[in-house]
Amino acid sequence: MSSRGAVIIGGGIGGLCAAIALRQAGLEAAVYERAEAWRPVGAGLSLWSNAMRAFDALGLAGKVAGAGASWRETVMNRWDGKVLSRLSVDVLCREVGQPTVGLLRSELQQVLLRELGPGVVHLGAACTGFHVEGEGVRVTFADGREVTGDCLIGADGLHSVVRQRLFPEVRLRYGGRTSWRGVVDVASEVIPDGSQFEIYGRGVRFGICHLGRNPEGTWRMYWFLMIPAPEGGQDAPGGHQEAVLSHVRGWMEPVEALVRATRESDILRTDIHHLAPLPRWGEGPVTLLGDSAHAMVTDMGQGACQAIEDAVVLAKLLREDTDRVRALRSYEAKRRPRTAHMAELSLRSGSIRYLRNPVAVWGRDLLMRVLPPSVALQQLRLAVGHDFLA
Ligand SMILES: Cc1cc2nc3c(=O)[nH]c(=O)nc-3n(C[C@H](O)[C@H](O)[C@H](O)COP(=O)(O)OP(=O)(O)OC[C@H]3O[C@@H](n4cnc5c(N)ncnc54)[C@H](O)[C@@H]3O)c2cc1C
Repeated sequence: MSSRGAVIIGGGIGGLCAAIALRQAGLEAAVYERAEAWRPVGAGLSLWSNAMRAFDALGLAGKVAGAGASWRETVMNRWDGKVLSRLSVDVLCREVGQPTVGLLRSELQQVLLRELGPGVVHLGAACTGFHVEGEGVRVTFADGREVTGDCLIGADGLHSVVRQRLFPEVRLRYGGRTSWRGVVDVASEVIPDGSQFEIYGRGVRFGICHLGRNPEGTWRMYWFLMIPAPEGGQDAPGGHQEAVLSHVRGWMEPVEALVRATRESDILRTDIHHLAPLPRWGEGPVTLLGDSAHAMVTDMGQGACQAIEDAVVLAKLLREDTDRVRALRSYEAKRRPRTAHMAELSLRSGSIRYLRNPVAVWGRDLLMRVLPPSVALQQLRLAVGHDFLA
């Protein structure tokens, strides 16, 4: 690439990782983010060992792990506290050589921004479109600004403008469920350190994860609730907490206590959308990365993990092949099957999590109790153990 370098649209996890990876590969890269300022997003994130392996390739695994908490076991519970199964995630972590980490999104963003240093990310830059010109690309912004680059990477998330310009016919799909997420500091660890809880009711899934300890000794916890629901539902103003409680009253401790302790402003409600696998991700010097290319339902917790893998693979292929258009197509050829597989696994694993029929729920809970953990681990191994750099 010439010194004009890569223009990356979107300063989310995918865009920031792409900038780090490209710059480490000796390529120029600048990020254009539409937000005017970084605002802490009140949500946690689980990073499976495959994402941590990608961070290791960027020399960042230690810093990322240090910003959160790792867990070694996932405990599946019925709503009333009966343990359905225990999954030793530690086995996979040892196989991959990296931990599984829960952390605040904003903490991860800060680690990535510190790594990039000043001058790389341009805030208040809302991309409106692009034109391929000769060997490069001219990108336009809402404030009239234009920049040129040797290639354009659309890392602008679910509602990607770059994707809409490339493939206007593509539509987002509603995943059939809505989510609430909360982050709260508590005085005691509430679930054992090193474990993550998943708790199941009829058509209701609740998760709890550690995000690390605060300097004053309190525990930072993340929880989420997922239920099947019509698209576009909204809570009454100031009513997120009450909406969540209406689904989990009488559930095992610490579910209600955690929700009650969470400030209303620290609860987010989000409908879950995804994309059917795209037949192509780019054209000429333009490509997509992260959710803009492969938004998936959240049931495997792999959306951001895949964006981080994308970034590392993209930089590797651009470093190896000076023909950047060919390198972009190689990147897409490598990443499309992997991310389509993850999207499909996520949809499939979600299908049994939100059963409502009492007999089906009874059968699912029984299956969770009797199924050897090795079977569930095998499915996770497909996500976490895959050698995405090979
Ligand atoms: C409830 C929920 C829970 C989840 N939990 C997990 C989890 O535990 N683990 C996991 O791996 N994944 C999880 N995900 C998925 C994960 O959040 C996404 O896959 C990930 O954030 C995608 O990163 P990205 O950088 O591609 O997109 P985003 O994080 O969406 O970033 C896109 C960026 O582009 C910017 N942007 C958008 N349009 C423009 C424009 N026109 N011009 C300039 N900038 C623009 C946006 O402001 C944003 O900063 C979860 C998702 C949800 C909804």
